[in-house]
Amino acid sequence: MQTIALIAHDKKKDEMLEFVGHHLDALKQFHLVATHTTGTLINEKYHLDVETMMSGPLGGDQQIGALVATEKIAYVIFLRDPLTSQPHEPDINALLRLCDVHNIPLATNRRSAHILLKYATEKVSEQ
Ligand code: PGA
Repeated sequence: MQTIALIAHDKKKDEMLEFVGHHLDALKQFHLVATHTTGTLINEKYHLDVETMMSGPLGGDQQIGALVATEKIAYVIFLRDPLTSQPHEPDINALLRLCDVHNIPLATNRRSAHILLKYATEKVSEQ
């Protein structure tokens, strides 16, 4: 089973919950990992078995980056808040960079996340 990482900045958490709610059947075909708050909110609302890392500002993005670097993550959906500066900006940039280094598909907004998930589920059904 392939792994998708889910991360949402605070102002994007509602959007992430809505996104997950719309795509529950698709997401159930994947192992899901998330930063702590994002994953906990998803698990509480949808009773999914999302594996949680640390919170983003405490190192969660770096943990997900390490999984990207070791190619344990196939896709990243990262609903970033482009209008608020984040204390852990260097970690965020590092994660985006590692996705590019390892050619891991990365969606940073809801519409690209939708496209990514459509592609990922098509790949699953081809197997
Ligand atoms: P969180 O981390 O899911 O723990 O809030 C996300 C982030 O801010 O990078």
